[in-house]
Amino acid sequence: MTPAAEASANTADFDAIIIGAGMSGLYQLLRLRELGLSVRVLEAGTEVGGTWYWNRYPGARFDSESYSYGYSFSKELLVEWSWSEHFSPQPETLRYLNHVADRFDLRRDIEFGARVKTAAWDEAARRWTVTLENGRRLTGRFLITAIGALSAPTLPRIPGRESFRGESHHTAEWPKEEVRFEGKRVAVIGTGASGVQTIQEVAKTAGHLTVFQRTPNWCAPLHNDKIGEAEMQAIRARYDEIFARCAETFACFLHTPDPRKTFEVSDAEREAVFEKLYAERGFGIWVGNFSDILTDKRANAAISDFVARKIRARVKDPAVAEKLIPKNHGFGTRRVPLETRYYEVYNQPNVELVDLTETPIERITETGIRTSARDHAFDMIIYATGFDALTGAFDRIDIRGSGGRSLKQHWSGGAATFLGFQSAGFPNLLMLLGPHTALGNIPRSIEYCVDWVTGLIGFMQARGLSRAEAPVTSVEDWMRTVRESSAGLLANEVSSWFTGVNTNVEGKGSRILARYSGSAPAFRQRADEVAAQGYRELDLG
Ligand SMILES: Cc1cc2nc3c(=O)[nH]c(=O)nc-3n(C[C@H](O)[C@H](O)[C@H](O)COP(=O)(O)OP(=O)(O)OC[C@H]3O[C@@H](n4cnc5c(N)ncnc54)[C@H](O)[C@@H]3O)c2cc1C
Repeated sequence: MTPAAEASANTADFDAIIIGAGMSGLYQLLRLRELGLSVRVLEAGTEVGGTWYWNRYPGARFDSESYSYGYSFSKELLVEWSWSEHFSPQPETLRYLNHVADRFDLRRDIEFGARVKTAAWDEAARRWTVTLENGRRLTGRFLITAIGALSAPTLPRIPGRESFRGESHHTAEWPKEEVRFEGKRVAVIGTGASGVQTIQEVAKTAGHLTVFQRTPNWCAPLHNDKIGEAEMQAIRARYDEIFARCAETFACFLHTPDPRKTFEVSDAEREAVFEKLYAERGFGIWVGNFSDILTDKRANAAISDFVARKIRARVKDPAVAEKLIPKNHGFGTRRVPLETRYYEVYNQPNVELVDLTETPIERITETGIRTSARDHAFDMIIYATGFDALTGAFDRIDIRGSGGRSLKQHWSGGAATFLGFQSAGFPNLLMLLGPHTALGNIPRSIEYCVDWVTGLIGFMQARGLSRAEAPVTSVEDWMRTVRESSAGLLANEVSSWFTGVNTNVEGKGSRILARYSGSAPAFRQRADEVAAQGYRELDLG
């Protein structure tokens, strides 16, 4: 920390406190500085980067095209940064975010190794008091959470985890030191997006890899490639076009649904569309497919059948192929992992698949994993068991609003927010990527949400206002929109983090209205309206 920052740290009172120094927190800091506010960012990690700081597991990379993911707010940044791959690997993205922090001189207002444990609203002082894990306290008029939607890792509730004597790592808490797999017997538990990326990488060098699968997912090819200097120049020249495209698509990706319905075209044409999407980069097959694949059972069965045929063609052992084909949900109703030769991994002699629906894990032992069938011995266990998504990072902070109301309790039956930005009873608590914000290609949403929050604070500053709260009526109104936007989605009938289910977390076993499923342009239109009408839907004072 610089001496000036040290001095201001001692006063420990700020106009705004931001929790988290990932993509959201970094950009929010920059924008609030422009308003002349004193700001302190509190970050649990020892560096900037958030997701890309913590998820250092082998094979971690974007599923968004790199040039659609980076910040768009600075022309200079766009000109000077080169992406080396269409889907940037984690080390490069972490370098990028460090570059952003250096370029905009952000570190002087960030405190690292600062995990926030509690936050309490003081109505008389109109301030939040934040307490860190080490007991230190800070106060701020605004408390802005930039704590991530996929940032609270969860471990499976399997007895004996602590007894294992080998190495064990969660993908989202991967060590900074190199982890080697050569000659080792490695277990991976979990086959979601992180699991798939990890498995295909670890399989290259592990002595023996055993994959423990509870729910297979419908994976589709990533088709990553290097970006040469000439191609990067061409991408740079198209940045305006790229971001304009992201601004108009349903989920801010370069891909957007085909307006046609699955059975409007002939069988041959449908097959050709699926083949083309399967051969293309990125999420096109999920979010750029026929418009009814995520709402119509027959349409969904058609694309699921197509992908199942691909899996059968790629996996040599028909019994293994069947285990890898999801039977309890259709394509795209859970997060689609993107893969690079993932299915071929199961043709390797050093890789084995254990289907936990047939032989569940009974316990972790000192030497490995015991299923109902037998003991497996391991040198390393990798937990690719994901996150307590959307609300997990909130639940891990004891947040108390008006009258000492606990946010965790307030949300115990499911979160309720106004546009994801505010929850009733929590004045001046502003959430970035809060529940029920548009997500999609997330940085595009981050930039919008940060700008919206900055606009609100600037509006209040100009009018000498010091308190903002979403009333219950506004929250109810937005939740009605959230409910309407999710009507008819096949994903509602499936247990996943999309529907708020995580069986590894107490109290998160039932499906709820966990996320906004409407379009990003509709979200922005609604939030723009609120701003244009002078934030009438908030109680300002
Ligand atoms: C493996 C992986 C791959 C992904 N790939 C993509 C992709 O391709 N495209 C896409 O759009 N999105 C992707 N995402 C989502 C990704 O999280 C977002 O794109 C984006 O990085 C979110 O930024 P953020 O700053 O909002 O949150 P995060 O990056 O999660 O940062 C939150 C920060 O808050 C800190 N924090 C949390 N709680 C506390 C506390 N109590 N005290 C102090 N600090 C705290 C954390 O340490 C963390 O650094 C991916 C996520 C994961 C996990």
